[in-house]
Amino acid sequence: MPSISELLDRLDYGPAPESSGSALAWIAAHGGAFGHFIDGAWGPAPEGNESESFETRNPATGERLAIIRQGDQDDVDRAVRAAAAAQPGWVALGGQGRARVLYALARGIQRHSRRFAVLESLDNGKPIRESRDVDVPLVARHFSYHAGWAAVLHEAFPEREPYGVVGQIIPWNFPLLMLAWKVAPALACGNTVVLKSAEFTPLTALLFADLCMEAGVPPGVFNLVNGDGRTGAALAAHPGVQKVAFTGSTSVGRSIRQATAGSGKGLTLELGGKSPFIVYEDADLDSVVEGVVDAIWFNQGEVCCAGSRILVQESIQGELERRLRARMETLRVGDPLDKSSDMGAIVDPRQKAQIEALVAKGAAQGALVWQPKDASVPGEGCFYPPTLCTEVEPANILAQEEIFGPVVVLMPFRTPDEAIALANHTRYGLAASVWTENVNLALAVAPRLEAGTVWVNCTNLFDAASGFGGVRESGYGREGGREGLVSYLRAPSRSAIAGAAAAEAQALHSPQTRLEQGPVSVDLKADGGAAIDRSPKLYIGGRQVRPDGGGSLSVLREFTGGGSEASSVALAGVVGEGNRKDIRNAVEAARKAQPGWAAASAHLRSQLLFYLAENLGTRTDSFVSLLREGAGLSAGAADREVQLAMDRLIFWAGWADKVDGQVHATPFRNVTLAMVEPVGVLGILAPDAYPLLGLISTMAPAMALGNASVIVPSSHFPLAATLWTQVLETSDIPAGVVNLVTGSRHILAPVLADHDDVDGIWTFGTSAEATDAEQRSVGNLKRVWAPMQRQYGEEAPLWPWTEQHRWMTELTIEQATRIKNIWVPYGV
Ligand code: ADP
Repeated sequence: MPSISELLDRLDYGPAPESSGSALAWIAAHGGAFGHFIDGAWGPAPEGNESESFETRNPATGERLAIIRQGDQDDVDRAVRAAAAAQPGWVALGGQGRARVLYALARGIQRHSRRFAVLESLDNGKPIRESRDVDVPLVARHFSYHAGWAAVLHEAFPEREPYGVVGQIIPWNFPLLMLAWKVAPALACGNTVVLKSAEFTPLTALLFADLCMEAGVPPGVFNLVNGDGRTGAALAAHPGVQKVAFTGSTSVGRSIRQATAGSGKGLTLELGGKSPFIVYEDADLDSVVEGVVDAIWFNQGEVCCAGSRILVQESIQGELERRLRARMETLRVGDPLDKSSDMGAIVDPRQKAQIEALVAKGAAQGALVWQPKDASVPGEGCFYPPTLCTEVEPANILAQEEIFGPVVVLMPFRTPDEAIALANHTRYGLAASVWTENVNLALAVAPRLEAGTVWVNCTNLFDAASGFGGVRESGYGREGGREGLVSYLRAPSRSAIAGAAAAEAQALHSPQTRLEQGPVSVDLKADGGAAIDRSPKLYIGGRQVRPDGGGSLSVLREFTGGGSEASSVALAGVVGEGNRKDIRNAVEAARKAQPGWAAASAHLRSQLLFYLAENLGTRTDSFVSLLREGAGLSAGAADREVQLAMDRLIFWAGWADKVDGQVHATPFRNVTLAMVEPVGVLGILAPDAYPLLGLISTMAPAMALGNASVIVPSSHFPLAATLWTQVLETSDIPAGVVNLVTGSRHILAPVLADHDDVDGIWTFGTSAEATDAEQRSVGNLKRVWAPMQRQYGEEAPLWPWTEQHRWMTELTIEQATRIKNIWVPYGV
């Protein structure tokens, strides 16, 4: 019999198993086999081991839990049809009506919380402590938070509309939580949903379908099709789907970007990560150790934003390692349903094999791999121990690849700058956490980290009120908060009417000119001869530069003869013929200028835009006569275009210092600062119509919000851009913030879209141009904004350049910025 003091010393855990009874009973009630959930009803379950079905197993024991039908094209068709049929009724229910349904879902989740938690742990292998205390409460929170958005939507976004049918594809690491992150905002905004669950973990989505019936979700509003990647691919490609939201690996994200290019579908991608966990020498090391536990051993490290790279200041490396190893010895890996397990099972033997393979490669590349001696990992089932890797070079596969397992690397740094360089030395940009007792240091580092979320002295905190999502190859779009909601709202379709009016106006404003490779010999009939620049230049890095190829293009004005008069052509001017090299130079200049421009005060950016307007004002006559005589616009049209361009500059000067960000009301002892950051370097393919107004309307917001841009101006009449160069030159715009490259659009646009140092493309050209840009964007996963092309399915309105609607302002700001959420301890 051990003495009391010995017992206290050892503090052994007794077993504390959670019962699986209720979850297994629910599976049994369905006969252990599930079909799809379409139009509010269950489809036929598979019988026996049909080829078009798959099994889901408990990774802790290997036991089969259920058998599920594999969705095929026909299933996806039926689900999309049901969703499309239900959507008008769902919108007609109104925000208040939808709020009630979403709230009923939140309450239902709470009512069945234990069953949901147990089912999640059985299917995924995560410890019950996490499914019960983290996943399920957050799921309920997402539904009630978005019930709130539904209720206030008409006030918050009076002009925006839902997309229609949204196709959503989720991964296996947080099956129910990812469902909630996607379904709740989509439904709040009036979309209907077809969801594809992950093939390793379909069960909680199936239970959620049952809950939809109980909570009174109208048939067709939520549809569930199960299956593997083939089902997901069919859903993403379905023509009846207007928006796709995906969470999963970067490689599948790329293939979805490819598959949806040119479709006009909205797209958000939440992809992989390799998040840094930065520890400065003044950090509170005990908190850091617990932080590491939450960062990388939470959910067995199967977390896209797992803090999988500990970057520690050299002076405390030894001490942190020592404390970390001691803590790792106490981590309990075991039965997911045991309430005292810290870590459960890896989701599937295939995932475990992948972790083992990566660790073996990392070790072969020189990493020292350490696992606790005393940690007992169950002999049976799919378990992997907590693992710490040291002596890891930055290029080691363990420091670069997402492992999606309980494996962390620890790397030293010397100075704060070196920490930032190491932190950003990855193609991903999902999250980061920073540990220091020095608030100045933390808040100086946070803006410099390439990440969608930065946690200060905390990690892996999530809430419905805060947007979560990445930058770079971690994808685009946010889930949660206002910033997440907007990706389920598009421009109003009634703008199709405005669009029709704009199309008419655009015809009047379209220059009667075209470009031809020069020199040409034509009758200089047009009196626009004054505009001819005999040595045409591009505007790159704040200077007028000769095109790399030395070529030029002639701007030809066409006179269509009336009656018996023959049509004729005249030379309106000559512009530089930019090539690939010019675009590369322009991107380099923009990249160099962008950090300084982003760091400049919003006040300064505003002032410079006002100044541009003032300087345009003093040149009104030159612009009007250029547009009249060179482009062939009527006097009224030319004058109006210049006036509108001036208005637009003043408008964006106004917004430049008003896009403030937010402090999100997250329910922890934090302030969550939703900081507005520029996208970075934008490639802008300006519209062909409105050669001046179109240029200004795209350039000004990009500038106002801290981006640097490379602009390919109107290819009908690029002379407006050449003259605009003179205004830029006299307005103190820092070199490289705006670069203008004239030339053949079909040659320049692909170079911009391919370029890995361009962060976003705005295309206002043809739909072929947009499709091509979207296809090419997969390299670095740059954001592509193509508002004029097929954004509306069949309606295809034009962007009404001459008007400035509120929804246009909202969309433009959303496309010129990205939100970084910084969680900082606050309050008591
Ligand atoms: P992970 O295994 O890292 O979660 P995956 O990207 O493989 O990431 O899977 C995420 C989700 O994407 C799963 O639901 C999977 O079935 C689905 N999926 C896989 N391939 C495709 C594809 N080509 N198109 C659409 N969805 C896919």
